[in-house]
Amino acid sequence: MTERPAPSPALTRRGVLRGAAAAAGAGTLAAWAAAGSRATAAPHRPTRDTARVVTRHTGPYEVMALLDAHGTFPATRQAVFPDATDADWARARRLDPAAFGPDDTWELDFRCYAVRGPGGRVTLVDTGVGPAGSPASDWAPVPGRLPSVLRHAGIERDDVDTVVLTHLHEDHYGWTVDPTGTPMFPDARHVVQRAEIEALDAGDSALSYVVEPLRRAGLLHPTDGRVRVRGDAGCAALTAVPTPGHTPGHQSVLVDGGGRGGSIMITGDVLVHAVQLAAPDVAYGLEDDQATARRTRHALLAEAREQGHLLATAHVNRTFLDVGRS
Ligand SMILES: [Zn+2]
Repeated sequence: MTERPAPSPALTRRGVLRGAAAAAGAGTLAAWAAAGSRATAAPHRPTRDTARVVTRHTGPYEVMALLDAHGTFPATRQAVFPDATDADWARARRLDPAAFGPDDTWELDFRCYAVRGPGGRVTLVDTGVGPAGSPASDWAPVPGRLPSVLRHAGIERDDVDTVVLTHLHEDHYGWTVDPTGTPMFPDARHVVQRAEIEALDAGDSALSYVVEPLRRAGLLHPTDGRVRVRGDAGCAALTAVPTPGHTPGHQSVLVDGGGRGGSIMITGDVLVHAVQLAAPDVAYGLEDDQATARRTRHALLAEAREQGHLLATAHVNRTFLDVGRS
């Protein structure tokens, strides 16, 4: 066990992401102020792992990583991962060199996943940063490109019969509705953990932008705990798995091909940077509950190693991570 400094007080998510001078942790926040208050869109490198659609197969499922956006986080990496050591950063740099921009900036992908199964039916996991003017516009590189990426993947909106939102942060629900509040996937039930909805503050933009429009359209499906989202022949299935900590009702999606090929765990934000793969104890300053998030991260990584799951993350600049070899 390496000694780590005591966890720093949780940063204020809204303060960091909106570039406001939050009272708590002002000393560490000074470090990121120079990075500017908005993420900036960066030209994407046309390498294999950062192509707009990267596909893996497991059993009857085609799992597609869909790149909605790429940009620079509005805080330096040390500000939001204050307990990461130099050794942690060195290992993280080997795992995800694209995450390291100039001046300690954090470069990150914003990625969604589509799972196409028998019959062409599609489950979409997360909907990215959204269009210009979406709630993520305060800090993320909008507009995202998900609509054109879906077309590139051969997916029509009405092919999507289920949308799973891993959690209700604005960089994960952006394309759920258009700016007029009309659902983008009108034939899809939208699976969200009830605990996630109930934890929202009254003024949270997720309520007005996503939850209420979906509820009015009859498309909101709050769930509790581990839930099978889709089942196919054999034991092939998609299962929503509670992975709390980043947010109270955070969930991940296990894509199990039924024993024919390794399963894929779509992790949401259980880990947001390769430094949390290099050192799972390292907290992200904007996690809702760092102790729970740490336990969740350890459990998910242990299961992935034991079972041979590939990890499909939202923000690491590599798709389909094999943690057994990382
Ligand atoms: Zn995120």
